[in-house]
Amino acid sequence: MFVDTHCHLDFPQFDLNREEVIKRAKENDIGYIVNVGSSLKSSIASLELAKKFDFVYATVGIHPHEADRFTQKEEIALSDLAKNDTVVAVGEIGLDYFKNFSKTENQRPLFSSLIKLAKDLGLPLVIHTRDAEIDTLKILKEQMPLSAVVHCFSGGEEFLRECLDLGFFISFTCNITYKKAENLRNMVRLAPIERILLETDAPYLSPEGLRGKTNEPLNVKILAEEIARIKQTSLMEVASMTTENAKKFFNLK
Ligand SMILES: [Zn+2]
Repeated sequence: MFVDTHCHLDFPQFDLNREEVIKRAKENDIGYIVNVGSSLKSSIASLELAKKFDFVYATVGIHPHEADRFTQKEEIALSDLAKNDTVVAVGEIGLDYFKNFSKTENQRPLFSSLIKLAKDLGLPLVIHTRDAEIDTLKILKEQMPLSAVVHCFSGGEEFLRECLDLGFFISFTCNITYKKAENLRNMVRLAPIERILLETDAPYLSPEGLRGKTNEPLNVKILAEEIARIKQTSLMEVASMTTENAKKFFNLK
């Protein structure tokens, strides 16, 4: 069994085949799907998916890209949503200084206040961080969450070690299969399997060979095969360890 711990099946890319994609995952050993909220609207949609499909779980969160537009009113609505039973984490939240779609001075307080929400509710965090490792670590060390996963890991060795030292999980996506991703494959080598989670980040980041197509949870298997190859272990071992990690991290039933 495999778990796709991070995808966005509520996004419009799936408007024509959402149920088909979910069914295909279920029929192909994807035992759980965690659909990740990235705005108030997508958090609501994520919860709706979790209500409809018993193996789909939801997170609620506001992507740093949304920080400029986010309002107090939305924050209250999000806090209420987060109390729902099918919500297994707060995220994705964090900092993105690569695209800088929102001002950094708006990203930081939003990140902080959502870490607080997660702690108040006893939930783990799903973190998005891009070109913002120093500030991300600073805020996380100050507010130390219950537990956290760094999604779509894109940092270097030093950042990886810091995250592992803090007890965080590391989530890899299908971009580790890209020809030029030797640096990411090195991070897979360095990260202990006990701390790795699998994710597709679908509809984004389709694996090598399927690039340009819409990614979907089923492809988490291709990622697991690549991790097994890099770590010179069996696919069974990667499947069972990462599934156990995901169940523990998100408290999946
Ligand atoms: Zn995402």
